[in-house]
Formats: sequence, C-alpha cells, structure tokens
Amino acid sequence: MNISVIGAGQMGNGIAHVFAQSGHPVTLIDIAQASLDKGLATIVKNLDRQLAKGTITEDQKAATLKNIATSTELAAGVKAAEIVVEAATENVDLKLRIFKDLDAHAPAGCILATNTSSISITRIAAVTKRPQQVIGMHFMNPVPVMKLVEVIRGYDTTDAVTKTVVDLSTAIGKVPVTVNDYAGFIANRILMPMINESIEALFQGVGGVAEIDAIMKLGMAHPMGPLQLADFIGLDTCLAILRVLHEGFGNPKYAPCPLLVQMVTAGKLGVKSGEGFYVYSPGSKELVVSPAFGK
Ligand code: NAD
Repeated sequence: MNISVIGAGQMGNGIAHVFAQSGHPVTLIDIAQASLDKGLATIVKNLDRQLAKGTITEDQKAATLKNIATSTELAAGVKAAEIVVEAATENVDLKLRIFKDLDAHAPAGCILATNTSSISITRIAAVTKRPQQVIGMHFMNPVPVMKLVEVIRGYDTTDAVTKTVVDLSTAIGKVPVTVNDYAGFIANRILMPMINESIEALFQGVGGVAEIDAIMKLGMAHPMGPLQLADFIGLDTCLAILRVLHEGFGNPKYAPCPLLVQMVTAGKLGVKSGEGFYVYSPGSKELVVSPAFGK
C-alpha cells in the first residue's frame, strides 16, 4: 500500500521505518525540513542498530531507505496515498486542522488513520466528509521494537476499514488489538493515571525519583519505572493526554499533577529536551536523576 505519514517526530519516523521495511512506499511529511532531516537520521541510526544485531542485511537497509520519500507539503505528500497515518504533535486543534486538510487532498478511497494517544477518533472524524474511513492506529514507542498496535474504532468506522488496518498491522509484524473510542482508549487510560500518581508521590515527597522507579520495577516487574517512562514518552505528551482524560470524563482523578505542569512550562520534556526526571547526555546510557530532584 502507498502510505503517507504526517509528522517526523519520535513516533512518525518509527512508523515510516516499519512500513518502509515491510516494502511499502512511504512519504514522510512534516512542516519543518529540519524535523524531516532529524527523522531520517533517526531511521538510519535505528537501521544501523538492527544491522549490528544481525536482524537485517545491508540490502534490506538500503531497500528500506529507498522506500522513504519526504515532503514539507501535505497536499502533494498525500495525493497518491491509500492510507495516511497522522503522528503530529498531540494537540486537538492541530489534529482537526490536519484532518480537514487531509480530507481535502487525500484520494477519496484513502483511509485516514491517527496515531493520537488519547484524542477522540470520533471528534477527529467529524471534521471530515469520510468519518467511516477515519480510525485510530496507535503504535507504541519505540515503534520498530514494540509489537502492539491499538486499533481504535470511531463511532462511524466501518468493519472493512477496521479489517484493512488490522491486516496491515499484522502484515508489518505487529499485533493489532481493537478497542472502542473513549478518551485515552485502553493503553493511556490505564498508563497515564499511574504515571500521574507517581509524579504526585514525588511532588508530596513520599519518595524520590530513583526510589519510585525502583519500587515499580522491582516490585511490579515493570521493565522501566513510571518516571523514566514519562521522560521517554515526553512530558508534554503525558500532560496533553491527562488533559484529554480530565476533560473527556470530567473526573478530577485525572487532573494533571502541578509538578508535571510546571516541568512542561519550564521546557523539561524528558529525553527529547535532554532533561525531565532524569538528565540525558548524548552517548551516555547511565540513568542520572535530574539535579532538580537530587538529594
Ligand atoms: P514529537 O513532538 O516527537 O513529533 C511531532 C512532530 O509533528 C514534529 O516533528 C512536528 O514538527 C510535527 N508537526 C507539528 N505540526 C505539524 C503539521 N501541521 N504537519 C506535519 N507535521 C507537524 O511527538 P511524538 O512523540 O512523535 O508524538 C506524535 C503523536 O504520536 C502524538 O499524537 C502522540 O500523542 C502520539 N504518540 C506518542 C507516543 C510517545 O511515546 N511519544 C506513543 C504513542 C503515540
């Protein structure tokens, strides 16, 4: 299938990578050329990692890269698409604008999928004239590694469109799991309150960063502590998802912890900005707690 991916950030470049590696021609689209360059550089780095592990050959790396074109023009980038997967910043107004544009420029039969972590698929679908072809295709981070694709059916999504997305996910080596459309779907409805509660425990001084993460890793067999995971996801994305849950259910239990709000305001977004609950220096694998939370 001919695929267009909107947004070349940490999710978008991973999504382009896995489709291209499975032989699909992909057009990766972003507003900024710099984001496209950075996205492509990440794809090359991740392919090199697969090469070093022996999971792909030089020829497969070259074929994958050959399958990826880039564009800063949405209209031109989606004109031949059979499916578009939108992975732009988690912001409702932005996504509504993008889907209006996609509806205007993508071919009539094209499926419009979104990788949103939490925003209602039905709400996004409602700004298009093809709500039956709009669906959630929620990949997990890092996309080349994680098996799950949470497939979310909007109010009008047809069985045929769901089947196409389920079959496509399976064909690229993922495991699709289909759910219905309520704020946060399943993955983030359960994950984000846990992350928020971890930040709240830190905020109240119940435990430090390393202690909270160690307890969840060693006690609950989580591969990564919730604060490290929040850094990995992006604190801005975590905040945006909590706001969607808070607004979507009107329940105060989803209110984002003030510390999370403060950190995002200060530009501490986790791995992508170099600092969150931990500090990240290029080339270093050591996990160092941010001085803001040091003893
Ligand atoms: P990111 O900040 O790394 O990347 C977002 C990209 O979108 C940037 O490159 C930005 O330039 C681009 N963009 C912004 N406006 C655009 C536009 N109008 N047209 C084209 N590109 C545009 O964010 P991310 O972590 O990759 O998240 C992207 C989406 O994936 C969000 O909806 C997020 O909720 C979802 N998601 C994130 C994770 C995660 O772990 N980070 C996991 C699953 C889903």
